[in-house]
Amino acid sequence: MAKQEQTKVENVDCKDRLCPIHGDKKLKTRGRTFEGVVIRKLPGRVTIQFERMLKLPKYERYEKRKTKIHARLPDCMKNDVIVGDYVQIAETRPISKMIHFVVSKIIKSERKTE
Ligand SMILES: [Zn+2]
Repeated sequence: MAKQEQTKVENVDCKDRLCPIHGDKKLKTRGRTFEGVVIRKLPGRVTIQFERMLKLPKYERYEKRKTKIHARLPDCMKNDVIVGDYVQIAETRPISKMIHFVVSKIIKSERKTE
């Protein structure tokens, strides 16, 4: 593991093998991406929620539905992401029963930048 560290994208100590940037398992992202608010944070994973519009043809109106998705939180991001953050997640291969997304980007952080 301790080879040339210069080629790494970020200078962080990331031991997460399933990290899309640093992991040696090469967790590739593909398919769809979503953006949403982090509503729960657990070790190695977050739950994000976003709203989508559902068309009701009978009434020719739209209804707001909420979607919750569990996503993997790589080690190098675990200190940056907090509940309330607006993040982007990307689809990946199923990592566990509920997780087939990985956090790819923090769009808006709730944490105050000093
Ligand atoms: Zn990483």
